[in-house]
Amino acid sequence: MNEIFLLKLGEIVLKGLNRHRFEERLQANVNRRLHKFGRFRVYTRQSTVYVEPLEESCDMDGAWKALHTVFGIAGMSRAKACAKDKDVFFETAKSYLHEQLMAAKSFKVESKRADKSFPMTSIQLSQYVGGLLSEAYPHLKVDVHNPELVVYLEVRDFNGYVHGNPTPGAGGLPVGAGGKGVCLLSGGIDSPVAAYMMAKRGLALEMVHFFSYPYTSMEAREKVLQLAREVTPYTGRLTVHIVPFTKVQEELRRSCPEPLFTIAMRRFMMRISQMVAESVGAGCLITGESLGQVASQTMEAMMVTQSVCKLPIFRPVVGMDKEEIIQIARKIGTFDTSILPYEDCCTVFTPRHPKTRPTVEELVEAEQNYDFDALCQEAFDGIESIAIRITDPEQER
Ligand code: ATP
Ligand code: MG
Repeated sequence: MNEIFLLKLGEIVLKGLNRHRFEERLQANVNRRLHKFGRFRVYTRQSTVYVEPLEESCDMDGAWKALHTVFGIAGMSRAKACAKDKDVFFETAKSYLHEQLMAAKSFKVESKRADKSFPMTSIQLSQYVGGLLSEAYPHLKVDVHNPELVVYLEVRDFNGYVHGNPTPGAGGLPVGAGGKGVCLLSGGIDSPVAAYMMAKRGLALEMVHFFSYPYTSMEAREKVLQLAREVTPYTGRLTVHIVPFTKVQEELRRSCPEPLFTIAMRRFMMRISQMVAESVGAGCLITGESLGQVASQTMEAMMVTQSVCKLPIFRPVVGMDKEEIIQIARKIGTFDTSILPYEDCCTVFTPRHPKTRPTVEELVEAEQNYDFDALCQEAFDGIESIAIRITDPEQER
């Protein structure tokens, strides 16, 4: 095989003793992500994950693209394999990096020598190949401090490799390295972005969606599943737990003072989500709340919803403007689905004058009117759990 990928670990390298665990997690995630593109050998050496195709039929372009969504990778390079010979290194650099050598104004050569039996030191090899490249590309200036292009030569045990500047990877920490969270996924713009952001910080996710059939339609449910599919390139495979929420909402409409309706409903969402979190071993809840966006997202309202929860609630978009959230939604490819016009259960019974500064006492009093333990348990027992596999955009239906 004459081309491989080198994936540079990101923040993982800072993690001291945990580093091994992080590296193993990243390697497993890379393996899983590559599964559909052919057979590869994946191994880690010196803060770099090496990805070698094991058969001619590997889809290298597909794999390269897919790896750009794997968190924990700071930079990535496609490298050309070659014989471990100084002149072959030069010829390979010239042919493989020709376009980059033509486009750059300055360069340097950097060599790494893992194979200590190689007859030159890394400095000698860099100087030799650098000299020949300077002659072959007279427009190129050597700049050892701030070169536009670095030509990397690696002398490894079985092969030599040549590559140019790495391109940015997805960044963040490997999914799963930080434990598991339950994300409350509505059909809106914000919650898929919140999911993406927490996956980037190393959380594996399960999704909870509150579904109020027939007030919300099967299309709305399908839209949420579609959003879940669209974040899987980043989050990895996940499960969407669809919670039947109609009865809770009808009960609230019957007995909850209208201005408190939304906030009472959100307390139910948190209680049930926490039950899900406990059942799947998750340690936090995640929402797409943004401070001041709507009445139920004031500081006071958040405090009142938080107070029914033992687990921390992470709200990664809390300080972001809608425009900033939309930018991320477009980047990760969820925006077009999010704006499809299907109603969410939150919009079905919206109070005319929602209370923006509710207190815990008011809610506790309103909750005297019904047996919320039984309602929560019934909703939890009715959950339908749907497994979602990693779905690349081109595979979508
Ligand atoms: P989104 O944040 O997804 O754009 P939204 O802006 O309509 O939805 P709200 O309805 O106020 O926001 O909900 C705030 C957060 O509560 C959502 O980001 C989501 O995490 C959660 N949420 C709202 N409705 C649901 C639902 N039907 N199922 C699961 N979670 C929900
Ligand atoms: Mg929102």
